[in-house]
Amino acid sequence: MALSGIQIYKLLPQTNCKECGFPTCLAFAMKLAAKQVELSACPYVSEESKQKLAESAAPPIRLVTLKADGNEVKAGNEVVLFRHEKTFYNKPGLFIRLKASEGADAIAQKVAAADAYRVTYVGMDFSIDGFAVQADGGDLNAAVQAVRAKSKRPLILIGEAETLAPALPALDGETPLLYAANPENWEAMADLAKKHAAALAVTAPDLDTLADLTQKIKEKGVEDLVLDLGTTKLSEWLARSTQVRRLALKNFRPLGYPVIALAGEAGDTAKESIFAAQAIAKYAGFIVLDTFAPELIYPLLVLRENIYTDPQKPIQVQPGLYEINNPSPEDPVMVTTNFSITYFAVANEVEGAGIPAWLVVCDAEGMSVLTAWAAGKFDAERIAKSVKEFNVAEKVSKKRVVIPGHVAVLSGELEEELPGWEIRVGPREAVDIPAFVKQAL
Ligand code: SF4
Repeated sequence: MALSGIQIYKLLPQTNCKECGFPTCLAFAMKLAAKQVELSACPYVSEESKQKLAESAAPPIRLVTLKADGNEVKAGNEVVLFRHEKTFYNKPGLFIRLKASEGADAIAQKVAAADAYRVTYVGMDFSIDGFAVQADGGDLNAAVQAVRAKSKRPLILIGEAETLAPALPALDGETPLLYAANPENWEAMADLAKKHAAALAVTAPDLDTLADLTQKIKEKGVEDLVLDLGTTKLSEWLARSTQVRRLALKNFRPLGYPVIALAGEAGDTAKESIFAAQAIAKYAGFIVLDTFAPELIYPLLVLRENIYTDPQKPIQVQPGLYEINNPSPEDPVMVTTNFSITYFAVANEVEGAGIPAWLVVCDAEGMSVLTAWAAGKFDAERIAKSVKEFNVAEKVSKKRVVIPGHVAVLSGELEEELPGWEIRVGPREAVDIPAFVKQAL
């Protein structure tokens, strides 16, 4: 649990020497509690106090980072149970599982397709995060090499210590995740993880055993642990994941680690997708899928984005000039704000009606049209600035811009801001845009 300012003060020298830049130790302690200064600013803290302060500053859920050739997947460092309390920080990494028995050629083909998969959603590019390779009797080394030939994303290696060991030297310099230590094999798995500076997943049939196991493995010198909750039954997994998060936030260190979910173990593709969605919503740090299919991955990526967005900041689209249905220079120019729901409402209506158009999305700090207008974030000046900044005049032959009906009041001012442009007032609701375009433009 984080220490209060007073508790921190009791650990400081209390000489008020001012060398830290603050007039008193108490003032420094308050800043430290608010995480606005570094402890190193005080040169007189005892080693014992430093240790206590470092422990209190450690996040309740350890940050575990898998690395490969500049690519990283981070999990942990979360500080709340519900995203509306603050926010969730590190999106769970989505990994695709491959089995060594599939053979190097088949693996290379699958990896190439999954690695190349990209999807753009409200101006953001999404992709999968890594691959899991399972030693299931095939040639693990060849399987890992086949993955590496097509992808530089982080890896999870699944198997026993003796089968994983030969594949690890080729991954020197990377931080893979080894899956998994259990009550029987933990010593060998811990030794292997330590030798290769890998993270280690730990599994047990219940949470008590899991907590005992993480402590033993930590004592062996492996710090980066990931918890497998020992069940693929949805209700049980949800209950355990919630218990683990609650206990971790109460600073129960043995369970203060990110969680992994092997969604493919749930059964068929439908169950796999439900398990993965639940794991995204309820606290997984790494999710391993057996199925790579855009229709499965895309909704999961979007769900993940929605849950791991700061709830205090609306989801925004990138301001810019959007082309809908390949517009030509004669086609209409419409204006809206960069609140994602507003953008989609407008873009979907225009696109669905088959209307080619240019859509100027203004930076209104993620607010809808009326809210932004009321807050002074969507006015004639901003609209004119966007039209100029995105070089709209160079793309169109007819200098005519349609503004939302809700801000009809801006038309006069906008004429002054955009001399030479015709300002038209469109409908208030996006659903009425197709009829407006057909009748009025
Ligand atoms: S440098 Fe340390 S001892 Fe001096 S005032 Fe700051 S906190 Fe107190």
